[in-house]
Amino acid sequence: MSIRVLPADVADKIAAGEVVERPASVAKELIENSLDAGATDIRVAIRSGGKRLLRVIDNGRGIPAAEAALALQRHATSKLYSAADLEQIATLGFRGEALAAISAVSKATLVTRYTDEPVGIELKLEGSSIVAQRAIGTPPGASISIEHLFWNTPARLKFLRTDATEAGHISRIVTRYALANPTVRFSYSSEGRLSFQSPGTGDHLQTVLKVYGAEIARQMLPVAGDADRVAPGITVSGFVSEPSLHRANRSYIELFVNNRYIQDRNLTFAVIQAYHTLLPKGRYPLAILFAKIDPSLVDVNVHPAKAEVRFREASLVFRAVQRAVHRALNAQAPIPPIQTHRPASDRQAWASRRQSLLQAGEPESDPGQLAMALFRQELESEQHTALVGSENPTDAPDPVISSNDGTLPPLRPVGQIAAAYLVAEGPAGLYLIDQHAAHERILYEQIVHADQEAVATQQLLQPLSIELGTHLAGLIAEHLSTLQQSGFELEAFGSGTYLLRAVPAFMGRQDPQRLLEEVAESLADKGDLVGQARENELVKMICKRLAIKAGQVLSAAEQRALLQQLEACENPRTCPHGRPTILHFSATDLAHQFGRT
Ligand code: ADP
Ligand code: MG
Repeated sequence: MSIRVLPADVADKIAAGEVVERPASVAKELIENSLDAGATDIRVAIRSGGKRLLRVIDNGRGIPAAEAALALQRHATSKLYSAADLEQIATLGFRGEALAAISAVSKATLVTRYTDEPVGIELKLEGSSIVAQRAIGTPPGASISIEHLFWNTPARLKFLRTDATEAGHISRIVTRYALANPTVRFSYSSEGRLSFQSPGTGDHLQTVLKVYGAEIARQMLPVAGDADRVAPGITVSGFVSEPSLHRANRSYIELFVNNRYIQDRNLTFAVIQAYHTLLPKGRYPLAILFAKIDPSLVDVNVHPAKAEVRFREASLVFRAVQRAVHRALNAQAPIPPIQTHRPASDRQAWASRRQSLLQAGEPESDPGQLAMALFRQELESEQHTALVGSENPTDAPDPVISSNDGTLPPLRPVGQIAAAYLVAEGPAGLYLIDQHAAHERILYEQIVHADQEAVATQQLLQPLSIELGTHLAGLIAEHLSTLQQSGFELEAFGSGTYLLRAVPAFMGRQDPQRLLEEVAESLADKGDLVGQARENELVKMICKRLAIKAGQVLSAAEQRALLQQLEACENPRTCPHGRPTILHFSATDLAHQFGRT
């Protein structure tokens, strides 16, 4: 074959391969363009994991009608004019190739109106060629719709994962940019359903809360933005997790340099090192850190996807990050509490009384008498209050239903009924506990808090090789860290195959393979949920599957353990699906029912 210059469309397709790996890469490039255009509102909508449609609409300054066709060409950019500009890049884009690359491998529609122009323009493209063009009335800004991604590059198309997996990748991109740009309102919808929206108020913590949920946001420490003392010209701000919150891998350490998300092993290590002895072995912190550096000290032109950068003084940046995290950990000033856990003093009194009662005689040896004695005491004291105080006992606050910190009083197990409910006694009467709902709650909090000791694992005698097929394996890969937190010791082992080494200890005698398959299947069902919402669903599902069922007879020791663990929960009164775990009948209620008052 003789040497020839490739036709433009072939060259475009080759170049596109570097920039557009999957729908999420398209989302990334389009969002970056919107941010560069000064948008304050960016809406991302997808269908079929972004394969059928991926649309980004913004309210930025738009593209002048006369330049729209040019914007779609390779090496066409408004952000860079000379090689010298490359030394000082303050925008996210600069290579001028994203729109060209994306439109080369899709059917694209660009609708835009430049702020200063009265009408907009619509361009339709198929594989880089403009197939239609017209003037159109539209608000200022840009809307870019990418349909049928990779329709003309079947090899690429084959490598895409399931819609759910691709949707998950896109959601991660959206939430990441939302974190980096708290003044911009981001929204993300899949199959017409809104699944994420950032407040856009400029409040970083509010955005963290939206992305990670209240549980995690509450355990994040602020990192102050004035690292100037450490490294002049570099500031590091953001949030890092309290040492009690950690994950099984590094993927929750998110780094941004001048608002650009970057991957940098060195800086990731700087964060981990700042925690050195504070975390259990093999566990990693969560972090969202924003470094601001003079653009001339950063080279962003390293990688076509612009995910890596080089620093002129890497060790200085390393130190700045490490010290900023260190300072945050030392200050240990948690973000304003969303909930606090403070047992009332009368509960402490009851707790010690219960302790002595439990020691004095095992409840099962003499359950009736003990319970009766306690009830009598309770009744007497309540009737006493009613007689001497102005307080009406029926209006007295109910310690379970109205205690505003939401915690439970210490409970003493009395027994089990219908192999489904526990009967217990507390400082203010009788309690009925749904054993399945209670156990679901306990597991949920253990997993969410990712406390390694709490989520006990049970090693399999021999690692089990499980073939899931690429479809399910993709889902498992995406949620690997949540699964690991839940007690599955799991490792990718070739295409579609996983090696299972350990399972959650409380899984009992269930078939591990079936459990894993079920988990993967129901993840697929939850395809349109994203990010934290999806992980939460996964955890809830695992809890439901693993919790003690109704019909299971519990020994006295098991009943005691269940109640103690429920007491230790932060939100013990409902199961993760919101159903009650516990019902309360006060001594006064009972007295009323029996016609004693
Ligand atoms: P780059 O971002 O590297 O300049 P792109 O191919 O992504 O290259 O975009 C080409 C040009 O099109 C940009 O420089 C910008 O002028 C214009 N552009 C792209 N997207 C938008 C948008 N959403 N709003 C306004 N202008 C845009
Ligand atoms: Mg761009």
